[in-house]
Amino acid sequence: MTAPPTPVSPAGSGLSPGPLGPPPVIELRQAGLTYPGPPPVEAFSSCDLSVRRGEFVTVVGPSGAGKSTFLNIVGLLDTPTHGSYLLDGVDTGTLRDTDRTALRGERIGFVFQSFHLLSHRPAWENVALALMYNGTPARQRAVLARETLTRVGLAHRMEALPTALSGGERQRVAIARALAGRPSLLLCDEPTGNLDTATADSIMGLLGELHHAGMTVVVITHDPSVAARGERTLTIRDGVMSEQACL
Ligand code: ADP
Repeated sequence: MTAPPTPVSPAGSGLSPGPLGPPPVIELRQAGLTYPGPPPVEAFSSCDLSVRRGEFVTVVGPSGAGKSTFLNIVGLLDTPTHGSYLLDGVDTGTLRDTDRTALRGERIGFVFQSFHLLSHRPAWENVALALMYNGTPARQRAVLARETLTRVGLAHRMEALPTALSGGERQRVAIARALAGRPSLLLCDEPTGNLDTATADSIMGLLGELHHAGMTVVVITHDPSVAARGERTLTIRDGVMSEQACL
């Protein structure tokens, strides 16, 4: 049986996991974002939210509801105009731009609907390039890229160009690229939006495996069957986030 949606409760209480669980990766404290306009648009209303390490959360809502705004806030691509956002316990509102960028590169892996791969570079190089800016030596970048591609089931496609890969394989490369820097949070924006149902299912299976291995995963989706794969599903409507309690 499913209860009606409830506004997302204050961090550490109500629908959020209890205080003795793993530490929060994402913690929003009355965080929201209003575009100044004119007229001002309250794209994401003030919200308290706690997502703990190892959780698998899906986020749904109609177009224009505020999903991208939420993703941009938790992905450190945008700053809340009010309230605060703690990533792995770090209050991101106090950081200088360079430190925010460094924290984002270190802690967050992004996966998008369109895979954004470099078409003239083999799969392993697409993954290795993600490690260019964090000081990983070239030889180690190649080793890590190959290890990560193996982890996502592409050991046999290391040398393939993206143009020679299927949609599902391309998304696996993109997931490997997001994972290569060992982030604490995997943020996926419509990761199955360009895939047929069976391939989407296998990509969600992979995200499920990563979750079972301890990764914190947030997936934004329009697809109810994808949303149902989350341990928790958050809904955003008119900028207001709520959570459906599964009883
Ligand atoms: P979704 O991702 O769910 O489609 P968005 O987060 O992109 O929704 O947008 C939420 C609301 O904020 C929408 O009403 C949108 O028109 C508005 N919005 C998005 N970006 C801007 C911006 N740069 N300036 C003003 N309003 C914006």
